[in-house]
This record gives sequence, structure tokens and C-alpha cells, in this order.
Amino acid sequence: MHSEDARGLATRAIHGSTQQDAHGSPHTPIYNTTTFAFPSTADLLYVVDGMKPGALYTRYGLNPSIFALEETLAGLEGAELSWAFCSGMAAETALFLAYGQDGIVCIGDAYGGTLELLAAQLPQLGIKTHFILGSELSRLDHLLAEGPKLVFFETPTNPALELFDIRAIAAKAHIYGARVAVDSTFASPVNQRPLELGADFVVHSATKYLGGHSDLTAGAIMGSKELLLPIWNWRKNLGSMIAPETASLLARSLRTLVVRVRQQNASAQAVAQAMARHPKVERVLYPGLPDFAGHALAKAQMHGFGGMLTIEVAGGGEEATRVADRLQLFALAPSLGGAESLVTQPCTTTHHGLTPEERARRGISDAMLRLSIGLEDAADLIADLEQALQ
Ligand code: PLP
Repeated sequence: MHSEDARGLATRAIHGSTQQDAHGSPHTPIYNTTTFAFPSTADLLYVVDGMKPGALYTRYGLNPSIFALEETLAGLEGAELSWAFCSGMAAETALFLAYGQDGIVCIGDAYGGTLELLAAQLPQLGIKTHFILGSELSRLDHLLAEGPKLVFFETPTNPALELFDIRAIAAKAHIYGARVAVDSTFASPVNQRPLELGADFVVHSATKYLGGHSDLTAGAIMGSKELLLPIWNWRKNLGSMIAPETASLLARSLRTLVVRVRQQNASAQAVAQAMARHPKVERVLYPGLPDFAGHALAKAQMHGFGGMLTIEVAGGGEEATRVADRLQLFALAPSLGGAESLVTQPCTTTHHGLTPEERARRGISDAMLRLSIGLEDAADLIADLEQALQ
């Protein structure tokens, strides 16, 4: 179920909150408080019993700084509701605990922490988890028939930028009464809005594009009111609430999300094209390149091709390490989505814990370098890559 807000995304990013400030501040101030006082027990009970929405206790999320953020986050994905969390992993944990009891199917590659949670930790609680790669999608029917009621996937994925057809997977999962959650961190709501394509939940590591400045850690889930309400209790009692200061900082960042991501899309396209022509680059994985395997699907389900791309350096893993170490503008750091460009070699960071055979099975070679394109001038980023590749 979607919100009725017909305004454009940039307008929603700036005017998405209905919170009013008594002094006229255009931005909800930081309510740096743990609790809120009431004039009488009757007034307190009105809020406790849900008869009147209002601020009550910050760990519950009932704090105006958090309300303002969550209204804006919901609007960006065209959702009825959003819950904000202290990290992307906290958001995923609450989702999996609330909806994973009958089993979870994870499609494709995913962030290492997500894979560890699904493969090593949730099974300790008796939650059955199943994994299929993009090349094994034909097994989805068979798996769903066994009863899992949650399908989870990233699109585009890390680091191969593999795309999954959100509409087709949602249609299939719904036949079996399963819900579909998409980790849309790599795309951001500017480039992809999975709820509009039939997904039930969108999950974000808001640490990345939503925060956009590599200075906050946060997460979010968006969806319908009916489906999000059960997650609220999990967040409340796991204690995985976003802090008011972080909520305010994130809400501030959202105001520039659209301009930031559109610029990152344009720069990533320019860098991808330059790398595709470079003799020392064997392969460029970027949804905006016409010969990329996921290009047609990206055009159909995304609004922009994103700021993430992966190059495969000629000469193998050791040469890729040398290139990563020679880069000057690109910082060698395992995150993404910030104003500053970052580079990581997946086999030494995000996928270091996998055996070489498992990395190969997932199509991740040692020669890959993943680039998160920031907000520097694209010409300077290309020049930096060219000097490092020489
Ligand atoms: N999802 C994706 C796609 C990620 O890249 C990450 C972190 O890198 C996460 C989830 C986890 O987010 P966080 O670090 O905010 O907990």
C-alpha cells in the first residue's frame, strides 16, 4: 500500500515531515531527551493507549525528531510508514525476527553481515534460511513450496551489481503467501522504489546514500502500516532505536539526497565509460553500460543507474591491489554512498571471509575493485584511476 503524496521526490525529501515547531524552525529541532512529561495521568494514558499520537519515550521511537525523519523516509519510498533504526543490520534483524519464523529465502549475493546473520545466527534460533544464487532462480518455486514466508534480496548486489526483477519475484512469492523484502541500499530511493514494483518491504542501510556523508550509522524499513506495525514491537524491545541526534542529522542529509544521487549517477556513468575504454581494465560492471547483462532490467525498474561500479583490472588480484593502493582521491575504505569516493577490493574486505572457491561460484574475482563514486569532479576521478592503472 502506497502513500498518496503525488509531489516529486525532491519536494518530498524537503517537505516530507508534518511536524510543526512552536518557534517556526523549518527543520525539526533535536529533541535530545529520553522521556516526555504529561500534565496528568489521563493525558499520559491517551498516548500510552494509542488514542492520541504523541511523544512518550525515545527508545519506543516516540520522539518528534524521529517522527520527522520517519515521515520523510516513508515519503521517499512512497510508503505508508517507515521505522528508523540505529543501523542497517538492526533494521534487517527486526525484519527477520518479525517475519522470518517460517523460514527465509535469500536470493543472490548480499552484504557479508546479512549473510552471516542468515547463515550462522538466525538458525541458532530455529529459523530456517535458504540461499539461492541468481543462476539458480528456477529453484525458487520449489523452495517457496516448502513454506518460507519471507524472500529477501539486494538489487543491485554487492559487488557484481547483479540485478533482480523485483516485479517478477514479488509476483511469484505472493502466489505462495510469502512477503518480499528488498535491500535497496545500493540504489537509494532516487534510483529505485521497490514498493512501486510489488515488494512488501524496503530495507536501507541509511549509513550509505541516505546519510550520504560517511558520518552516521542508521537503518530504515519502509512498507504498509499493516505490515510495519508488528516490526515496531521488535525494534522497541531489541532496543535498536535511532538516537535523536542521528535522526536529525539523517533528516538533514535527506534534504540533499536527490541532488547528491543524481550527480553521483552522472559521474559514475562517466567513470564507467572511461574505464570501459581503458586497456588495463578487462571488464566494467555498471548497470548504465549498454553491454552490461542487467542493463535492460535496470532501464525497466530503475530511475537511474547508481553511483556504484566495479572494474576488473587486467593482471589479476595482485595488480588490482597495487591499483587500489596507488589511488589518491579514492579512499581505501569498505563503505559507500558518501560525498568522498571510496575503493575496496572485495576479496580483501567484504568477501574476505569466503573461500576462493565460494567467491568464484559467486562470480567475484580477486581482480575486482568496487568503486563508490562520490561528489568530486568526474574528470579528477578518471584522472586518478588512470594514473593508478598506469
Ligand atoms: N545492506 C547493505 C547492502 C550494506 O552494504 C550494508 C553495509 O555495508 C548493510 C546492509 C548493513 O548496514 P549497516 O552497516 O548500516 O548496519
